[in-house]
Amino acid sequence: MNTIQRAHKIRLNPTPEQEQYFRQAAGNARFAWNWAVALMRAASAQQMTLPLVGDLKAEFNRIKREQFPFMLDTTKCAPEQAFADLRQALANYFNDIRKRKNGKRRKDGKRVGFPRFNSRKRGYGSFYVFNDKFTVQGHWMKVPKLGWGNMTEPLRFQGKIMSARISERAGYWFVSIQVQLPEPEQTAPERVIGVDLGVKALAVDSDGEVFENQKHLAAALRKLRRVNRWLARKQKGSKNWYKAKRKLARLHVRIANLRADATHKLTTRLAAKASTIALETLNVTGMLKNRKLARAIADASFSEIVRQLGYKAVQVVRIDPFYPSSKTCNECGHINYALTLADRVWTCPGCGTMLDRDGNAARNIRDEGRRLVGAA
Ligand SMILES: [Zn+2]
Repeated sequence: MNTIQRAHKIRLNPTPEQEQYFRQAAGNARFAWNWAVALMRAASAQQMTLPLVGDLKAEFNRIKREQFPFMLDTTKCAPEQAFADLRQALANYFNDIRKRKNGKRRKDGKRVGFPRFNSRKRGYGSFYVFNDKFTVQGHWMKVPKLGWGNMTEPLRFQGKIMSARISERAGYWFVSIQVQLPEPEQTAPERVIGVDLGVKALAVDSDGEVFENQKHLAAALRKLRRVNRWLARKQKGSKNWYKAKRKLARLHVRIANLRADATHKLTTRLAAKASTIALETLNVTGMLKNRKLARAIADASFSEIVRQLGYKAVQVVRIDPFYPSSKTCNECGHINYALTLADRVWTCPGCGTMLDRDGNAARNIRDEGRRLVGAA
C-alpha cells in the first residue's frame, strides 16, 4: 500500500507552567545544537577533520547528566533531534559544495552555509518529540515530562503519527504533527470541473459554486490595516510602539492560520466534486507588479491552493495563463477584448448573453481542461 505524509499545525493553549516547559525544551534543543556547532566550527577553523555527529551525540549524552543537568528536565528528544538536524545541515552543506564543483547551482543561486549558531534573538525556536513519545486524544496531546497539553483543534488526519514539532511564533505556541496516511482512493465522480481562483471571491467553479473569502479572515484583514495605522502614529522605540508591533505580529500569525483553514476547506470540497480539476496557472510573480491584484491573490494563497489540489485530486490540469478565460464568452466563443478587471458582469457583444465574470471564466477553464485531457 502506498502512503503519503501530511502535517497539521495546531495552535496550543498552554498553561503558564507548560509554556515554561516549552521554552526550556526549545532552549535545550538550541543548547545542544550550539554545543555541537561550536565543536564543528572549531575543528573547521583549525583545518581539522570534522568530528562525526554520532560521536558528538555520544559524548553529549555521556556528560549531560553532570555538566548540563537541566537537560533532564525536558524530553530527551529535544537535544537528540538537534543532532539529527545538524547531520542534515552538514549533508546539505557538502552536497551544495559538490554540486557547485559540477557547475550546478541552487535555483535561488544562494550558497548553503556551514551550520551556524542559533540565537535566542530569533524567537524561542522549536523542539521535536518522536512518535513513540507522543500521543494525541481529541483536543489533547501528551508530551514526556509535560503531561497533557490542550490543542485549539483536534488532529485533522487519522493515521500513524510520525513526529511532532512544537514551536513558537509571535508569542503563540504551535504543534506541527506529521502523520502517515494511506494514499487516498479517488471516490469523486469521473468528470472535469474548471475553477477560477478569484480576486473578489476565493474561487468560483464551473458548477457555479462560489467560495467566499471567509468573513473572519476579512475582519482580521481590516483589523490588520487598523493596527498598521495605529503603529505608524506611535513613536518608534516607545513602549506603545513595541506593544503595537507585538500586536501586529500576532495578527499576522492569526491571519496565516485563517487562510490555511479556508484553503483546506476549499480544496477538500473541490476534490470531492470531480476527478479532474482544471486551473489557470496564473503568473503570480508577474502579477505581483500589479500591487492591488497581487494583494488579493496573495490573500487567496494561490500557490497553496494549487499545491493542496495537487495532492487531493487525482488530476490537476493546468491551463495556459495566456488562454483568455475571462474574455471569452462561454456560450458563443466571442472574445471581448474590451473587458477590464472592473467588469464583474458583462453582456456578450456576439450573442447578447449576460455573463458573470468568474462563473464564465470557470466554465471556459473547464472546457479547455476537457479539451486537454481529451474528455467528453
Ligand atoms: Zn457570446
